[in-house]
Amino acid sequence: MHGPGSAHVLDYCKNCSIPLAGEYCHQCGQRRVDGKLTLGSFFADVARRVFRFDKAFAVTLWRMLVAPGRLVPDYLEGKRAGYLDPIQYFISSVFVQFVVTATTQDLAPILGRESAIAWLGQLTGVVAVKVLTIFWMGTLWRFMFRPTRYNLAEIYVFALYAFGTTGLLWSVLPLVDIAVPYPLGANAIVVTAVTLVVEIAYMTYAIWQFGKIPFWNCAMRVTAVLAVGYLLLVAIVGVEHVAHFLLPTVKLTATPTT
Ligand SMILES: [Zn+2]
Repeated sequence: MHGPGSAHVLDYCKNCSIPLAGEYCHQCGQRRVDGKLTLGSFFADVARRVFRFDKAFAVTLWRMLVAPGRLVPDYLEGKRAGYLDPIQYFISSVFVQFVVTATTQDLAPILGRESAIAWLGQLTGVVAVKVLTIFWMGTLWRFMFRPTRYNLAEIYVFALYAFGTTGLLWSVLPLVDIAVPYPLGANAIVVTAVTLVVEIAYMTYAIWQFGKIPFWNCAMRVTAVLAVGYLLLVAIVGVEHVAHFLLPTVKLTATPTT
């Protein structure tokens, strides 16, 4: 496993023992390992590599907000340094939603703002199911509106970035509820309407820029794909499963067995 020991350990890749010319080994790609592992460096590493809370996360979010039509083409053309790849970005966004959910559930009762908890429905749910839903919506998009400028894999890349950003925008809603004087989340219709408007508005904006489709045409397509997508899901797996996995806090009138 390990190569022969060397007097100048720091100058050799610890994985394959060839001399290092920079921060990364040019043969195996492993990052330079030096010094002893400390608790601080361990947690810094977890934050940076698992959740990617570094500059790259901020850059990715910022680019998806101001120019969503340029980030994905850059990725597809191979310009991938300085921002997160679609899977990392999506996982980071899920982690933010998890933290917001946990914080809101603890803070809202203390602040007397239980209405903020009403916004958490979209932030929870099973992550694997959320990812599958994204592929489902991307596939529908591709086959409901052929031909498009992008193939299916390219649409999946875009969908991961766009749904990740939608999740981050939803994460702001419970914080807004806590911050404003009126408990917005007390009204279930307001919660449903605002959540849907945020999703449709951001998706329309992002796809309009990415797909170069006329704006209103784009808005109708986004609404159509989301409506058909969710309705087909309900038809195939049943409303209780869709609600349970995607929107666990939705209260159904006829609650199924649990
Ligand atoms: Zn190496």
